[in-house]
Amino acid sequence: MQEPNRIIAIANQKGGVGKTTTAINLATALAAIGEHVLIVDLDPQGNASTGLGIDRRNRHLSSFDVMMGNASVSEAVVATAVPNLSIVPSTMDLLGLEMEISRESDRAFRLRRALSQPDATGYSYVLLDCPPSFNLLTVNAMTAAHSVLVPLQCEFFALEGLSQLLETVDQVRQSVNPHLDIQGIVLTMFDARNNLAQQVVNDVRTYLGDKVYHTLIPRNVRVSEAPSYGKPAILYDLKCAGSQAYLQLASEVIQRERRRKAA
Ligand code: ADP
Ligand code: MG
Repeated sequence: MQEPNRIIAIANQKGGVGKTTTAINLATALAAIGEHVLIVDLDPQGNASTGLGIDRRNRHLSSFDVMMGNASVSEAVVATAVPNLSIVPSTMDLLGLEMEISRESDRAFRLRRALSQPDATGYSYVLLDCPPSFNLLTVNAMTAAHSVLVPLQCEFFALEGLSQLLETVDQVRQSVNPHLDIQGIVLTMFDARNNLAQQVVNDVRTYLGDKVYHTLIPRNVRVSEAPSYGKPAILYDLKCAGSQAYLQLASEVIQRERRRKAA
């Protein structure tokens, strides 16, 4: 029998906290250890698609078409340079989705329906790269997902946005997805030379306990350069501290999954 897959929404309503970087590099690390991974790019900016080297001209069908019901996941999927890693790219069309479907009663369920079709269930991990807002796209992601993985940037206001995010997760649980879980919180862009960053790490760990991954993703210039080459950092510079941290994060994610399945 096929193992059930794990659909993880990578979400935080703040922009620039490392959602897309985490989606790309966690996906690459999982693929490197033999998992079959799909990223669905749900941000009209399309940074995950660009960061994985998918040229705009090759985005014939996109996550917009999938949610409109014009294409299946297998029709829209594009292979990447990483073996075992595919992506459903996004285009600016996504900006119009809300207008197109906001009156439809199934508007929150479009992605869930597409991902539950037989052609989409062959992936062991599906990572949903969410836009930086609580809009219909993020709601579709949280409705389709088993869990939410939250990147938090190590900065002063990190916790402030988090309570709002956790409230949203609660609302989704109470309405459309009662089993939605918190996959984990990953602290990103950690700078050891910054005293405040260490304080933020301590606060987040005190507040959220073992939901926070042990792995700290360091601020690393190689990680920020990689997308301009259309490559995950792990392909661009495997040895850099950022790539190594994402590999470590992937092993933590897998360990937690093993424990969850055993429980
Ligand atoms: P989001 O998807 O939440 O908006 P991104 O993943 O696009 O955030 O990251 C925002 C910016 O920060 C990007 O320019 C990215 O390259 C950079 N960045 C992300 N993580 C790191 C890191 N660990 N070290 C250095 N730069 C990073
Ligand atoms: Mg992004």
